[in-house]
Amino acid sequence: MLNPVTSEFITSLCSRFGEDILRPTSDLYLEEPRKRITGHAGAVVAPRNTGEVSAILSMCHEQRIGVIPFGGGTGLVGGQIMAVDQGVAPLILSLERMNGLRAIHPSENVMIADAGMTLAAIQDAAESENRLFPLSLASEGTCQIGGNLATNAGGVNVLRYGNTRDLCLGVEAVLADGTVLNNLSRLRKDNTGYDLKNLLIGSEGTLGVITAASLRLSPKPARVGTAILVVRDPEAALELLAIAREISGDAVSAFELISGIGMEFARQTLPEIHQPFAQSPEWSILVELGVPAALNPETLLEDLFVAGCEGDLVSDGVIAQSLAQRQEMWSLREHIPAANKKIGAIVSHDISLPLSELAAFIPHGMAEIAKIAPVRVNCFGHLGDGNLHYNVFPPQGCNASEFAPLRDDIERLVHDLVHAHGGSFSAEHGVGRLKAGELTRYGDPTKRAMMLQIKQALDPRGILNPGAVLS
Ligand SMILES: Cc1cc2nc3c(=O)[nH]c(=O)nc-3n(C[C@H](O)[C@H](O)[C@H](O)COP(=O)(O)OP(=O)(O)OC[C@H]3O[C@@H](n4cnc5c(N)ncnc54)[C@H](O)[C@@H]3O)c2cc1C
Repeated sequence: MLNPVTSEFITSLCSRFGEDILRPTSDLYLEEPRKRITGHAGAVVAPRNTGEVSAILSMCHEQRIGVIPFGGGTGLVGGQIMAVDQGVAPLILSLERMNGLRAIHPSENVMIADAGMTLAAIQDAAESENRLFPLSLASEGTCQIGGNLATNAGGVNVLRYGNTRDLCLGVEAVLADGTVLNNLSRLRKDNTGYDLKNLLIGSEGTLGVITAASLRLSPKPARVGTAILVVRDPEAALELLAIAREISGDAVSAFELISGIGMEFARQTLPEIHQPFAQSPEWSILVELGVPAALNPETLLEDLFVAGCEGDLVSDGVIAQSLAQRQEMWSLREHIPAANKKIGAIVSHDISLPLSELAAFIPHGMAEIAKIAPVRVNCFGHLGDGNLHYNVFPPQGCNASEFAPLRDDIERLVHDLVHAHGGSFSAEHGVGRLKAGELTRYGDPTKRAMMLQIKQALDPRGILNPGAVLS
């Protein structure tokens, strides 16, 4: 049983760390991007360094006060937000002040950063040393590297560089009782016992507060080329991906599926976003290649286009001829979530499937959903990773709220179908609070039992992110 944040507790925080340790308990910390949950908090604190995080957690452990680690607040599964009916108002511990670059070692391709640095700041710091930190998400201006690690975020470059887990060499983290784990390794090889960094990555704030990370950088590709190609269907897109990998020497850094519905949503709601085609094609892909100086990415993309046309996979396309055109193409892809938000989804799914199941799943799911209601599905995402955002919208002219009673049925149907196809109900957003029930339903019971044992060992009083992941 957890205790509330009392005025005595706040007074002792202020006397120990100064009054400015507190942040106003504003909507910034109590709303999530899709506004599906409104949170509550006993107080919000923003420590300045790992020592303060340690001292605060030790006080919370002692007094059995629940703590939610808070990064940029862009999480989409309610991990950073606890609704009023989900438990005693917790202490929100924001990493926003811990946003310094600790060190960069260009010759080692390593950067050590505080957890509160935004992803965009991490990318800029790498760029300033002519290096690449390849993690890239539409929320990168706001999300923090600590949040990215806690959720093991994916994004558009996973195909080539892996997800956040693959970009991390070590972490510094504070455990529930205030103990600090110093594991800011710069080593690529270190087989000395359990891989605790990988236990914390993806743990969504339930096992420790990540305070810093050692990150793996890459050399920047000398030349980058981008194209949007109209494909026959998702099956053709997957065949095209195999060709793209072959002709580029596996230099495909992004391969994003865009549906006609998604393009139309952007056309309707964001007219300032450049559209590559006069009419929205039913399916297209955004492909990006990053190649060495000796290769010409535009020529490779032309070869891909020709091979795609010859194989009846591709019917039209645009190859970016300038940085501005590349940015326009990415802007369209990255604004699809914003356009979705303006249209208003009934329910969104972040699913992954084995690549060989994916093409069959897309129409199968749509046909099954159509039996429940005449809705529209905007299916888009990181096709090369088998990761689809499969978001369901009301028919034209209707409001999502009219379909709210069908929400759970549609979600159950999609997740059951994904499970039957050997997929996952959460490809990259995590479990948080919104999908904790799904983990119980679809997860392997032994895995869940092991997770509970690990939680019990590292956080015996259950103060860290109570109710998230393991409900
Ligand atoms: C427009 C948009 C696009 C997105 N695109 C993608 C995408 O392509 N791929 C993808 O994977 N996600 C995507 N997301 C989801 C989100 O941006 C990621 O999950 C991101 O990694 C969350 O980081 P954050 O700093 O905002 O974390 P928060 O939202 O603050 O927190 C998320 C979870 O991590 C925990 N946490 C945060 N910081 C720490 C810390 N330092 N230590 C321990 N636990 C912590 C929280 O308790 C919570 O459980 C998108 C979101 C939006 C709004």
